Amino acid sequence: MTSQIKLGCIADDFTGATDLANNLVRSGMRVVQTIGVPSGPLNAEVDAVVVALKSRTIAPADAIAQSLEALRWLQAQGAEQIYFKYCSTFDSTAQGNIGPVTEALMKALNTDFTIATPAFPDNGRTVFKGYLFVGDVLLNESGMQNHPLTPMTDANLVRVMQAQCTSKVGLIDHRAVAQGAAAVTQRIADLKAQGIRVAVVDAVSNDDLHRLGTALKNMPLVTAGSGVAIGLPANFGLKPTPQASVLPTASGLKAVVSGSCSQATNRQVAHFQSTGRPAFAIDPLALARSTRQGADVVEQALAWAAPHLASGPVLVYSTAEPEAVKAVQAQLGVEAAGALVEHTIAAIARGLVAQGVQQLVVAGGETSGACVQALGITQLQIGPQIDPGVPWCHAQTALAPVHLTLKSGNFGTDDFFTKAFTQLA
Ligand code: ADP
Repeated sequence: MTSQIKLGCIADDFTGATDLANNLVRSGMRVVQTIGVPSGPLNAEVDAVVVALKSRTIAPADAIAQSLEALRWLQAQGAEQIYFKYCSTFDSTAQGNIGPVTEALMKALNTDFTIATPAFPDNGRTVFKGYLFVGDVLLNESGMQNHPLTPMTDANLVRVMQAQCTSKVGLIDHRAVAQGAAAVTQRIADLKAQGIRVAVVDAVSNDDLHRLGTALKNMPLVTAGSGVAIGLPANFGLKPTPQASVLPTASGLKAVVSGSCSQATNRQVAHFQSTGRPAFAIDPLALARSTRQGADVVEQALAWAAPHLASGPVLVYSTAEPEAVKAVQAQLGVEAAGALVEHTIAAIARGLVAQGVQQLVVAGGETSGACVQALGITQLQIGPQIDPGVPWCHAQTALAPVHLTLKSGNFGTDDFFTKAFTQLA
């Protein structure tokens, strides 16, 4: 028998869900993240659940349907407040899905007002006069204007949100937020009187987020990046405590699998090799030549790992520098190369767990999704943070319980692949 949850969260992508869960845990909530909407009731004693969807760039109608399904499940677990989480760079297409999902959730919750803010000052995302800054530049100068799926060409979030909503969109600006919760509450009343139903909120510091959090008590729906989460647990009488991040004691063998080619991951692979620990490189072109869809490479990698595992972590990686990646993509195609490598690394991760690995580091967002699927994981208990945005987690797999951490692209210090295990010990 489990108690009812306090906060029910719906995240529009997988690593974003972990980012939110991590912030909630650091603010004192015990959290599990589910992969999609669970088919049965929650089987865990926690304060919050983050349902991870993959709805950021799908058709708006599908994103709405999935989000409403997640909402119904969270309500059935007793959620007192709902949090719709999107990216801190407000990643969306001209059609949505932030606006359409927000309005559908408002309707389902029968509520006439919500906020929207991707502010996450700890990660350099600040909102001022409704304009989103990424580090020191506006969103549309940050590189996000060139994003392949969700190009963000306007930093004015009131305009961006208005284009995606049928309701009127307004702004709670820094003056109200700086004055505190009472001023924010008054501003919300004023906006409502003007017929505004969704308000973008300025926030440039964690203090702003804490003041905002107080004003959000009892708001049925909050929509935000992961930053706003730091101000909500206090509304439920919770304070930061190490107890929130306690996981079962770690045991078993250790491994790292990496399919990320980001700059940080390239440095992490180089650092791991410099410690003298064994590493096995996967060549995507060898996979493409395989007559057994890479099964031979999976067998080679697992046979290579077997004698090394007893003495400490091993690394299996396809991580490569941009030039090499481009050459592979030119030969195989971007999508085909990605899918082939993801599939192979996921099969290796599963094989490693079958060989007794129970402490697993996975590098790469898409790679993480593939590994979680191959391992049959449906739920992750969120533990202590290793580096900003990257916590240790604990999960049941189809084979054995494992501790795992899912590191997206550019996260983590250079020594992440060794530091993570030291911290778990
Ligand atoms: P990140 O979080 O760094 O973006 P992802 O796992 O999300 O990492 O994406 C990396 C993509 O690149 C995956 O689809 C992966 O399969 C693919 N990939 C990995 N290694 C190579 C390589 N050597 N050549 C081409 N593609 C690769």
